[in-house]
Amino acid sequence: MKSVCLVGAGPGDPELLTVRALRRIEAADVILTDDLVDVRVLALARPGARVLKVGKRGGCQTAPPGHEYLAVPPEGAARRSWERPGDRRYSTEQRFIHELMIREASSGARVVRLKGGDPFMFGRGGEEVDALRAAGIEVEVVSGITAGIAAPASLGIPVTDRRCSPGVALVTGHNGEGGLAPDWHALAQSRLTLVIYMGVARCEAIAAALQAGGLAPHTPAAIVSAAHTPAQRHAITTLADLPATVRLERLASPAILVVGEVVALARVLASATQVSARAVG
Ligand code: SAH
Repeated sequence: MKSVCLVGAGPGDPELLTVRALRRIEAADVILTDDLVDVRVLALARPGARVLKVGKRGGCQTAPPGHEYLAVPPEGAARRSWERPGDRRYSTEQRFIHELMIREASSGARVVRLKGGDPFMFGRGGEEVDALRAAGIEVEVVSGITAGIAAPASLGIPVTDRRCSPGVALVTGHNGEGGLAPDWHALAQSRLTLVIYMGVARCEAIAAALQAGGLAPHTPAAIVSAAHTPAQRHAITTLADLPATVRLERLASPAILVVGEVVALARVLASATQVSARAVG
């Protein structure tokens, strides 16, 4: 039976892979990987495996030791998506990822589609499952540790601590191109901890919308960039000061924003590699 395995690679550190994820990666003939997957995870592929980088940012920057990135245009692919793999302006269109997975699986290869964090937490895992099933290809999904839980945890933030939060909302900070945008007003009223993915670029607008929705300016807020990688950095601040902190500390994507009283429980754990806790303003 022809199949593809969608594998969650976790937030970075290979020790946060599940045992099943590790087994699938080690057995794969072909790995189609996102940008966010840590190079140390890709290095677990067996020496003969082909690692194809099909991330949204394009760009075959660094191949894991012993591997080479290959960019193989699927039938009918627009050349520009593939011919300049080192160029970050070119991203891989979703349709080509589908075609490539289908082609590789149809040839009988053991195909792993490797996605950062959990394959069903943003990142279009559902669309990929639909495309594969429509092509008659079996799909296995291997859950991974999502950045929205692991990034706050690296600062000792328990996102659903019952002393200050009835639960957590995991939302996109994107403005909805091709998807639904969050209702910031409703979230501000919800008393839930807010964990915001893809929110750095729009954090000014998000912080303003949450305050307009009634969330207090002094609500604790944290930002964690590149969690569980050697480049991890973070800041702890308030909702009102979040945009200035992001700017001043140059905290860049990929990053998780956390807004809510649980942030006040942060304590720096050994796993946090760099500390920069300060309120601005
Ligand atoms: N499937 C992924 C999320 C994909 S969306 C998961 O479950 O984690 C991409 C967003 O995830 C990034 O913009 C960022 O907000 C977040 N992200 C992924 N890896 C991260 C990391 N190591 N540290 C902080 N944020 C991360």
